[in-house]
Amino acid sequence: MSGDAPRERRTGGGAAGAVAVAVDRGVCIGAGQCALTAPEVFTQDDDGFGQVLPGREDGHGSALLREAVRACPVSAVSLRTGG
Ligand code: SF4
Repeated sequence: MSGDAPRERRTGGGAAGAVAVAVDRGVCIGAGQCALTAPEVFTQDDDGFGQVLPGREDGHGSALLREAVRACPVSAVSLRTGG
């Protein structure tokens, strides 16, 4: 066997086109657009900063996820796709 290993798939989700969502708190200004646009994925903490709901880092299959990313006025929401 050679040393070339096939790409590993991350566990969890299992859906094609897995994504990883994150909010950069250093950039976020607390506009709340992410939580308004995709409340099933984002919320706001006590200080008003956006955050990804626990367990929803995979985007939860939300059709509004990309809209939420676009809605953020300071591009604090990152969306990484893989798979
Ligand atoms: S939309 Fe952007 S700036 Fe507003 S709370 Fe969400 S991450 Fe923060």
